This record gives sequence, C-alpha cells and structure tokens, in this order.
Amino acid sequence: MDVDGDGDAVDAEGAMVQEPDPASAVGAGEGASPAPREPGGPDGGGAAAVDGGGAGGLRRAPGKARRVSAEDGEAPADRHGRGRARGEGDDAGERAGGGSAGGPRIPGDPRDTGGETKEAAKAETGRLRRRLAVLQEKLYADGRYALLIVLQGMDASGKDGVVRHVFRGVNPQGVRVHSFKQPTPRESAQDFLWRVHQAVPPKGMIGIFNRSHYEDVLVVRVHGLVPEGVWRSRYARINDFEHLLAESGVRILKFCLHISKEEQRRRFDRRLLDARRHWKFSPDDLRERQHWAEYQRAYAEMLEACATPHAPWTIVPADHKWYRNLVVGRAVVAALEEMRLHYPQLRSGPGAAGEG
Ligand code: AMP
Ligand code: MG
Repeated sequence: MDVDGDGDAVDAEGAMVQEPDPASAVGAGEGASPAPREPGGPDGGGAAAVDGGGAGGLRRAPGKARRVSAEDGEAPADRHGRGRARGEGDDAGERAGGGSAGGPRIPGDPRDTGGETKEAAKAETGRLRRRLAVLQEKLYADGRYALLIVLQGMDASGKDGVVRHVFRGVNPQGVRVHSFKQPTPRESAQDFLWRVHQAVPPKGMIGIFNRSHYEDVLVVRVHGLVPEGVWRSRYARINDFEHLLAESGVRILKFCLHISKEEQRRRFDRRLLDARRHWKFSPDDLRERQHWAEYQRAYAEMLEACATPHAPWTIVPADHKWYRNLVVGRAVVAALEEMRLHYPQLRSGPGAAGEG
C-alpha cells in the first residue's frame, strides 16, 4: 500500500483501492430544472451549505465554516506583470508574521473536514464515483442537459486532483476536461469569453474547466493585465454568459478549492523535494504565491459578484484532499440526480427491435 500524490491509497499497480458498496444518492429532489439546490441535506453530513450570500448561490462546505483568519501574511504587491521573478524565495509576508491587510477573504476554513473521518469520506467518495458513472451514462442517453463543472483555486489547491479522483471511473467518452492556460495570441485577439464558449459541453456531456473564464477577473486583475474598468465589467458579462448557458440546458457547478497558505507551502515543498513531482512545479507558482493576499481578495470579490442561482459557487475546504473530493463528489452527484434523467424509450419505426 502506498500513497499517491493526492494522499489516496493505491495498490502496488497504482490502481485505486475501492470500497465495495452500493451507490448512494445525495441530495436528490427537485425537478429537472437547472435551478441549483444545496448538495446534501440540512443534516449536513459535511456537505455544502448555502451561505446566503447576497447574490444567492454562494455555498460553503460545511455550513459551520468560519472566516479564514488573517494569519496568512501578505506579500508586497508586484504589479509589474507575470514575468518578473523576485530575488529571494517566497513568503516574505509569511515570515514577517503575517500582518495582513484585512480586506475580503474567501469565506470558510480550508482545514475544515465537516466532522467526517478520512476513512468514511473515502468510502463515500468511492460510492459517489460509481454513482457518477451511472449518472453520466444517463445524462448522455437522456440528452437534454449538459453539466459544466468549473474548478478554480490557487496553485496546488487540487484542481487536477479533483479531476483524477472524482471523475475517474466515468466513461472517457462522456467527459471532456479543458485546461485554460494563458491565452494564445489568437485567443487574446478575441473577447475573453470566445475561447470559453467553444469549450462548453454539448448536451449529454460533462465538461470540466480546469481554470476558466474566472482567470479573467483573477490573474488578470492581480497582475493589472487590463484596466480595472475592464475586468470589473466582466462580472456582469460572466453572469450573463452563464445565464445563457443555464437557459440552454447547461447545469453549472463552480467550485472554489480553498487551501491555506501553509498547505500550499507544504505541497510546493513536496513537489520540490520529490523528483517524481518536479514536473508539477513551476517557478511561476512561487511568483504567484507572492500575491497571495491579492488573490484572496480577488477571489472573495469574484465569489460575491458571480454567485448566482443559475451558477452557484461552492467553496470547498481543500487542505484535506479526501474531504475536498467528498464535497465535490457529493455536489456533482446531487446535481445529476436533480436532473431526473431518463433513459429514452425504445424508438419505434422501421428496423426497430421488436418489429416484424
Ligand atoms: P496551470 O493551471 O498551472 O497549468 O497554469 C496555467 C496558467 O495560465 C496559470 O498561471 C493561469 O493564471 C494562467 N491563465 C489562465 N487563464 C488566463 C488568462 N485568461 N489570462 C492570463 N493568464 C491566464
Ligand atoms: Mg501552476
């Protein structure tokens, strides 16, 4: 038994150890409308809770999450663009004792585990994964809806881990992952949603955005890549865009993977110390870490501005990978259950089975 990069048990072949258990549906209910609802019941079970944020659709998991403390230091702002490395290592702000300039923070405690144990959480995630495989097939067969999952979070927050651990087991034909990088010259020559719209999953499909159009109000803001008036107006453009998608049958779930600055440090260290993880590390990651507090602010504001009933945000405590996977798994399965998907009836007509 070993532990892979995400702290999940793997056997000698590298295959995940799965727990035999019947599939479990979480948070089922409500009609096929794309309207969002709370994943997990009010009893929580560690599932997400509606935060009651002004715009509606801002969820935290779990409900009792508290404000992130200001213990994370704030590094001096560097608005000179992405290419400039700082002379020394990172964490100047951290070492300075973390006298953070207040300001908005992503709500919730990244270390939260919703009262779950790791063992139980992993068992449930295994069941959710199997349920997800069934639901994905129904989504395709039904053909009325698409599911779009948006993953955002700081470097090393676990976006790739969610893709690997929650969606493993889904038929590869039914899911498309799209990773949004720095825009190419071709993409930069278009409006910021151009490349995004093309990547939206068609009906019957699950689409996963590993980063997304939200980078256009996050990294772009933190590095001053466009004037404030431009990125600020994007909140409304994004909400309109997502509204259009929702009206067109795309169910949208957005996850903000919320890790602490300390946990990011640990994950970077692991990447640096383990030759098998070097590939995961980029010097850019340290540069971005210098802007931690600015990112937190940008995230917090964006979460408020772009949490809508038709495209809610769930803030996922992500210091513990097993809890992160559980929260996302539950929300995704709940959203698919709510669609009340059906296998279509046997089509009658020439050549149909049962004829002649
Ligand atoms: P990674 O997710 O580690 O592969 O890195 C992708 C990089 O692309 C991140 O540093 C993102 O901030 C950056 N990126 C993604 N979208 C944009 C965008 N619209 N403008 C600028 N940078 C972006
Ligand atoms: Mg990166």
